[in-house]
Amino acid sequence: MTITTTEPLEELALDAARNLEDESAGNIVRWAHETFGEKFAVTASMADGVLSHVASLAVPGIKVLFLDTGYHFAETIGTRDAIAAAYNIDVETITHPLRVPEHEAEYGQLYKIDPDLCCAIRKVWPLDRALAPYDAWAGGLRRAESPSRAETPVVTWDPKRRKVKINPLATWTDDDVDEYVAKYNILVNPLKQIGYLSIGCEPCTRPVAPGEDARAGRWAGSSKTECGIHL
Ligand code: SF4
Repeated sequence: MTITTTEPLEELALDAARNLEDESAGNIVRWAHETFGEKFAVTASMADGVLSHVASLAVPGIKVLFLDTGYHFAETIGTRDAIAAAYNIDVETITHPLRVPEHEAEYGQLYKIDPDLCCAIRKVWPLDRALAPYDAWAGGLRRAESPSRAETPVVTWDPKRRKVKINPLATWTDDDVDEYVAKYNILVNPLKQIGYLSIGCEPCTRPVAPGEDARAGRWAGSSKTECGIHL
């Protein structure tokens, strides 16, 4: 049953960050569903099926949003399809109204010229629109992924969208992920086997060398480290 709260969402988020820090990822997803009901959705990049699987066990049939920028690797689309078929989740793909050829006819190859604007157009704004009906959303951010994510709270306030942001995997180490993948035989994007440890759009992602930061292959050669969705 959805909890009806008179507490402002921002306050609720800060309380939950303290109370849920040591809870399991499944319990955090369950809390979000019990608190926000149909106003809560999970988002997944489909680099692997960990968050989708955790969410499916916590709340069978839960809504999982996948943002299709049009620039994804074919392997990512295939991983999405496999996850949607294998796990008890309701995958909704968010597509951009402009297909890539139309986008490039209008803007050129924006990822080369102005990747921040490209991410804004192809990622941030479509996700903002898709999240409009929701009060809370979850993503797969982990503290161990990069220094810029080291302080990621399990629950926080997303001031830009004025929503509660939930990071059920925030405290998971790389070993935690590996153990979970092995234990449940989780579907993983095949690109991970050839060095793509963090997977975004094809033009902006390269594999990383052993020992390199997992996200070093994202926008390599530029100072850009985030697409803007999580800022
Ligand atoms: S990651 Fe690259 S291709 Fe994808 S939206 Fe951002 S700049 Fe564009």
